[in-house]
Amino acid sequence: MPQRHSSSRFLLIIFLMAGAAALYSGCSQPEEPVFDGESAFRFLTDQCDMGPRYPGSREHRRLRKYLVERLREFGANVSAQSFEAALTTGDTLHLANIIANYNTGGDRRILLGAHYDTRPYADRDPDPANREKPILGANDGASGVAVLLEIARLLGGSEPPVGVDLVFFDGEDYGREGVQQDYILGSSYFASQMSDYNPEAVIIVDMIGEKDVRIDKERFSAEYSGQLLEKIFSIADSLGVEQFRDEKGSYILDDHIPFIKRGIPAVVLIDFDYPWWHTLEDTPDKCSAASLDAVGRVLIRYIWRSGS
Ligand SMILES: [Zn+2]
Repeated sequence: MPQRHSSSRFLLIIFLMAGAAALYSGCSQPEEPVFDGESAFRFLTDQCDMGPRYPGSREHRRLRKYLVERLREFGANVSAQSFEAALTTGDTLHLANIIANYNTGGDRRILLGAHYDTRPYADRDPDPANREKPILGANDGASGVAVLLEIARLLGGSEPPVGVDLVFFDGEDYGREGVQQDYILGSSYFASQMSDYNPEAVIIVDMIGEKDVRIDKERFSAEYSGQLLEKIFSIADSLGVEQFRDEKGSYILDDHIPFIKRGIPAVVLIDFDYPWWHTLEDTPDKCSAASLDAVGRVLIRYIWRSGS
């Protein structure tokens, strides 16, 4: 500030100008849309109706096409980021992240992500005969994608006050248990290619569809991105969304990790306490519209609050 103005008249003019500017921006900004859990749930069943959607399968390609079509229909700027991932087994996977941008001119950007691939083997199934069969992934895969698609539908009608990038990650759930390098392939590739893209927050949603979903504070998120996590949980609290609990969770390897490694605030919202995890029983009847609604409402409020 080069000099002080003590005149009260000058201050009055400043206040009037600020008030007018606030009024103007209040009128020009689209209102916060209302998340529709039932609509999100239809996106979940659409995916499951295709069958298991693991990399290399016809259903995986079909879902990719479905995502691109829906996102274009919802007014996004859509692109596919194709890449090859070399596995520790010697195999190579041909994968693609699907990216949808809203408010492309916004300098400040928020990334919301979910994995769209499903696990090729039900290695936690109680019946050993099922353990090489692919899972349907209603909760583990489809639920996060469903919430993101419903957000896309809403952002198509109301431009968000900040830039929003929805990223549908591929190859999250391919690795054999214990072989960490073969997991989170899509987010690892995306993070390695970011160059000057620098979102102020990365929020991953995974396994948030279970009927009695309970989201606690995943430990990597809490330790490396505490401020972001607290902001999200305080929004849940202010909305009365009781599915978010002020409790410490466990450490989970998910698509937020490659961003944390780059020093970007990144969290995962997840309920890891799911009895049907990596079994053939991960089916839509275990999930509910109300659970998707709880998470979606918090994310929409987070986007709109970030713009104010
Ligand atoms: Zn999984």
